[in-house]
Amino acid sequence: MKLLVVEDHPSLRALLAEHLRLRGFAVDAVKTGREAIAAQQMARYDAMILDLGLPDMDGQEVLSRRPGGGEAPLPCIVLTARDAVECRIRSLDAGADDYLLKPFDVRELEARLRAVLRRASRAFVTLACGNLAFEPDSRHVSIDGRILELSRRESMLLEELLRASPRIVVKEYLEEHLYAGNESVTLNAVEAVVSRLRRKLMAGGAQACIQTVRGIGYRLQPAGAGHA
Ligand code: CA
Repeated sequence: MKLLVVEDHPSLRALLAEHLRLRGFAVDAVKTGREAIAAQQMARYDAMILDLGLPDMDGQEVLSRRPGGGEAPLPCIVLTARDAVECRIRSLDAGADDYLLKPFDVRELEARLRAVLRRASRAFVTLACGNLAFEPDSRHVSIDGRILELSRRESMLLEELLRASPRIVVKEYLEEHLYAGNESVTLNAVEAVVSRLRRKLMAGGAQACIQTVRGIGYRLQPAGAGHA
């Protein structure tokens, strides 16, 4: 799951990005409205956390300029220091899914974010393949009910593979989703994560395997199901 954090206050921006990354989200963090609009044209996000008081434009304008409007605009939680009822009403009218008044507890933001993503039906239901299961809410991975320890990046990869399975996940998509926009991705970074995850699944006795589809990407399939 990829999030866009739009906040001009440097330490709050860093805190939010860090906290959400630790919770397993891929996060791009920007400081202006213009950067927020540009980022949404470059990448696909699952939700946006948007400060209303930005240096170059009002957050409401960013909200109203979300791409793909109409049917399913990007889910958004608005952050505001303004305790004005009209401001919150305008944000909700402009399509914000929820809002938080500053200062707030990041755990509350996280809980509201989960609720917003759930409502947007970017569903938090258990994902499974063979005897392998992944619970997006807790991020627990298990094989036949036994917990499998994965690194944050490995679990992000597994989530993308499970969501797509049995379809192929394109390698460039993984490069974009496993790494935030400001992280440099080395040439074989995704391949390295894939091979670590593949080894852990095998060692844990998973009846699911990651197939390499040469020149395209990867696919998770129940063990014994066809070859690429
Ligand atoms: Ca601000």
